[in-house]
Amino acid sequence: MLVMMKAHATSEEIREVCRKIEEMGYRAHPIPGAMRTAIGITGNRGPVEATSLEALPGVVECVPVSKPYKLVARELREDSTIVDLGDGVRIGGPEIAVIAGPCAIESHEQAFTIAAAVRAAGARLFRGGAYKPRTSPYSFQGLGEEGLRILAEVRAEFGLKIVTEAVDHETLALVEEYGDVIQIGARNMQNFSLLKRAGKSSRPVLLKRGISATLDEFLMAAEYILSEGNYNVILCERGVRTFVDHTRNTLDLSVIPAVQRLSHLPIIADPSHGTGRREKVLPLSRAAIAVGADGLIVEVHHKPEEALSDGNQSILPAELRELMGEISQIAAVLGRRVELP
Ligand code: PEP
Ligand code: MN
Repeated sequence: MLVMMKAHATSEEIREVCRKIEEMGYRAHPIPGAMRTAIGITGNRGPVEATSLEALPGVVECVPVSKPYKLVARELREDSTIVDLGDGVRIGGPEIAVIAGPCAIESHEQAFTIAAAVRAAGARLFRGGAYKPRTSPYSFQGLGEEGLRILAEVRAEFGLKIVTEAVDHETLALVEEYGDVIQIGARNMQNFSLLKRAGKSSRPVLLKRGISATLDEFLMAAEYILSEGNYNVILCERGVRTFVDHTRNTLDLSVIPAVQRLSHLPIIADPSHGTGRREKVLPLSRAAIAVGADGLIVEVHHKPEEALSDGNQSILPAELRELMGEISQIAAVLGRRVELP
């Protein structure tokens, strides 16, 4: 159920409606929009008794939500969400956000070399895992907290915002402390207790689509985070598993307009995991921007042949510069911008 407030409803009236909702034993989620505030109700098992809410001052009407997800739905919020990371870095607005960096943080020298190239190419966000969910327990698992310390130094040195993955509750608390955006990986998309914990964080969350997740499952995973009070969620299409063997995964670009029709949350694409092949990252990046993605997350390495993880899909610094130039031209066609150096 959604409570639609009048355009000029006062903050006192909005507070009063929220108080009434809580008194009924539910949770109220006021979401301000450009025109008016909508208040989402969660925690109800059956239908909500609307008449007493509709009688309150400032309320236009109560509308039932037709989808299983409520807070992520466009029905709740017509305007697209813009996740604001400060210092002019936003995801979801007219500016295309580019998150670039290695798959994993391997050393201080590796991270600093790549971060310098990322900054020089114009990207404002740096990626790099300190905790790596690997298919094999014998593969490089990440530097752990040492990796997070290196990431914090990268932020201090280059002014880049840090996006890094949390794999469980313990690492989430650390990522929260050192990073700017908490990445939840494809394998954890339905780790509901981790999603709930991320929902209690004050940091934005980058939620990657699971390798076999349907659109509804993807949006419901995001709903878990919002339902705990964290509305700063960025969705990420990173490829799904299909029968094809010319790429590692199939980057499902059609999910981008599908998400945008149903949800107000920003969505970016990951052409690195989405293809698994360096030479396919540029073409799929162009395609993702053309289809309307709010940004990209790409793996970059200065010596991909020596990378401890995902070297095959990491582009070179020069290719990142090329990518930025190309997507900025495509973005312009759509009335969007890419910040170039
Ligand atoms: C990654 O970003 O390096 C990663 C492991 O991503 P995913 O969860 O999409 O596989
Ligand atoms: Mn990777």
